[in-house]
Amino acid sequence: MTPPEINSPGYEIPAEIRNQVNITTLDRVYNWSRKNSLWPMMFGLACCAIEMICTAASRYDFSRFGMEVMRPSPRQADVMIVSGTVTKKMVPQIVRLYNQMPEPKYVIAMGACASGGGPFKEGYNVVSGIDKFIPVDVYIPGCPPTPQALLNGLITLQKKVETESIKSARWYGRRPIQPIPIPVLGPDLMDPRKYGEIRELARQKAEAEAQAAAEAAAPAGEPEAG
Ligand code: SF4
Repeated sequence: MTPPEINSPGYEIPAEIRNQVNITTLDRVYNWSRKNSLWPMMFGLACCAIEMICTAASRYDFSRFGMEVMRPSPRQADVMIVSGTVTKKMVPQIVRLYNQMPEPKYVIAMGACASGGGPFKEGYNVVSGIDKFIPVDVYIPGCPPTPQALLNGLITLQKKVETESIKSARWYGRRPIQPIPIPVLGPDLMDPRKYGEIRELARQKAEAEAQAAAEAAAPAGEPEAG
């Protein structure tokens, strides 16, 4: 028996054939099958990951929504749950994993840290949200969010999937989707997309320092006549 939500609204199907006949659209079937088989990637970053694990365990059991197959490989996952504090050291790995996931793919920022830095915001080793580097579909507030909050976030993602259309899906577009440039961790984290900006700031700083050094080295002016 197919679930009633697969039918397009506005069509009255006689009760005696309701289990055999559906009136629907390709988009509804396509989205219904995708939203009920979202496979999260199995990785966690900090304390929020414990709540994510609880959500998968028997008490909350997100397999009820078709999500029980947490994949250890990004090649087989279509949801990245960023669960925990995003340190600068981890950002290149997270972006690399995101690039390795096939389309269609989605990102959930779970908790205050992944959404905006949380209690560590502006710390020397932490970024202020993973959305500075990869696109986020759903934000879940809390420190940590409860398993119920994560379930709510996953249901919100399912609702988002329901609104997509094959005609406008980016992964069927004519232009290939470009991977996100992987940030480089040096003295600080550098986003390759901002290299131009970084070079310009470095040039301005070097010019200001050279000018200050020239002024310091210049001979003092003539003393005024008495
Ligand atoms: S939001 Fe709170 S619980 Fe989650 S990783 Fe950050 S500090 Fe830990």
